[in-house]
Amino acid sequence: MTVLVLGDQLTRRHGPLSEGSPDVLMVEATAFATRHAYHPHKLTLVFSAMRHFRDELRDTGHSVDYRQTETFAEGVETHLADHPGDELVVMDPPSHRGAERLHDVVESAGGSLDVVQNDLFLVTPAAFDDWFDGESGDSDYTHEEFYRWQRRETGYLMDGDDPEGGEWNLDDQNQESADPERAFPDPPRYDPDETTREVLDWVEDTFDGSYDTDEKGGAWADPEPFCWPVTREQALDALADFCEHRLAGFGPYQDAMLDGEWSLDHLLLSPAINLGLLHPREVVERAIETSRGRDDVPLNSIEGFVRQLVGWREFMRQTYRREMPELATANLLDAPHDLPEFYWTGETDMHCLSDVVESVRKRGYTHHIPRLMLLSNFALTYGVEPTRINEWFHAAYVDAFHWVTTPNVIGMGVFGTDVLTTKPYAASANYIDGMSDYCSGCEYAKTKTTGENACPFNALYWDFLGRHEESLRSNDRIGPVYGHWDRKDDEEREEIHDRADEIRTLAESGDL
Ligand code: SF4
Repeated sequence: MTVLVLGDQLTRRHGPLSEGSPDVLMVEATAFATRHAYHPHKLTLVFSAMRHFRDELRDTGHSVDYRQTETFAEGVETHLADHPGDELVVMDPPSHRGAERLHDVVESAGGSLDVVQNDLFLVTPAAFDDWFDGESGDSDYTHEEFYRWQRRETGYLMDGDDPEGGEWNLDDQNQESADPERAFPDPPRYDPDETTREVLDWVEDTFDGSYDTDEKGGAWADPEPFCWPVTREQALDALADFCEHRLAGFGPYQDAMLDGEWSLDHLLLSPAINLGLLHPREVVERAIETSRGRDDVPLNSIEGFVRQLVGWREFMRQTYRREMPELATANLLDAPHDLPEFYWTGETDMHCLSDVVESVRKRGYTHHIPRLMLLSNFALTYGVEPTRINEWFHAAYVDAFHWVTTPNVIGMGVFGTDVLTTKPYAASANYIDGMSDYCSGCEYAKTKTTGENACPFNALYWDFLGRHEESLRSNDRIGPVYGHWDRKDDEEREEIHDRADEIRTLAESGDL
């Protein structure tokens, strides 16, 4: 029997490898990397982490057949040609139809495949389905209910049957704007070793922009030096650094954005967790343990942290599993537009978007609020077709996998479906100005909706509400905003729609 280790299952501590199986097959397939115009740091991260894991396994006595092939199927076929009739075992991949595709590949090459439970998540599909079909008693996905159930199941931050501190969710204490003068600690950087340097050179030579897609291949030129953890040892070091230096401030400033400040007090370990280098349980438990021993870690920091990993991350995985394949192509609002070019280049006078795209270009990362309230919010109100923005996130972010981006972007970001959020996250410059220092350095005027230099977010926001009045006015959560829309006369509304059209024209021509 051979354990098939996929690129996002790099663990010896969970799954079949934890049971002592000595033989391993890993396939490094180039074709996967050409499906989208992936950020070079993302490709480097995945391939370097795989090669480091291969070496770690060999150092600990495993026999690793590491195949470097064009397609994944080729890697499996050549392995089976050398090991006829081999029985493979693999953890269930979270991607839609992943297990079925693996069965097809292995069985058509003459092998057999046993797909076992994926132990890299806290909640199993069966447990989620039992809860959803039984206890939730609700036909909608409700994160809050799921999260409370998980707190009870895990016992994290519980005081008997009640949440510590008396409240389940301290989200309203996670929204302080940050002082631009506040010094945030620099996160650790992990300079490339020889293995990573080899991958970096290979990625640069192999994926030079000649992607076989209609995306903007090569757009990610000149990122900053690669710094992501690629081994478990590095990831554990980064976790310790977060707990010591950033956990305390994580809560209050979780939603804050600052010009030129990419890391703030965030964990920055979603790439390592999504690759399997760290288990979410050990990350959460380490943070809780830290908070127990320190007076300076407020409850809103540790609760917000637990909510992200125990609640939201698991909820996204299960939502994706249940709602695919419809979720991937959902377009509830019939949004028709292509993604503006500046998502690739960062070339726009909108200071907020220019800064966050620059951060993505440099290192394939921003925290969740720029993703939701800048990049997705703009796409939502502009009317970008959901699959376009989902593909962009998938290609651009180092922690993005299809199961991660699809519910987050299509479901929550651009309201392609209402199965997991009851309202679109549309916002004007007012929100962005409240949560950041971007507007003071911007050529656009945050208080203007129409006219010269009016902030594009404002006209797009009202235009969005106007265009979707029929479906959104009755929405409990966003409906009350229509009181403001009602106070605008026909002339004002026409000016708003004209300005929104102008913004789309300017974006298409690269002049926004
Ligand atoms: S004025 Fe508008 S475009 Fe400029 S930074 Fe503020 S929200 Fe962004």
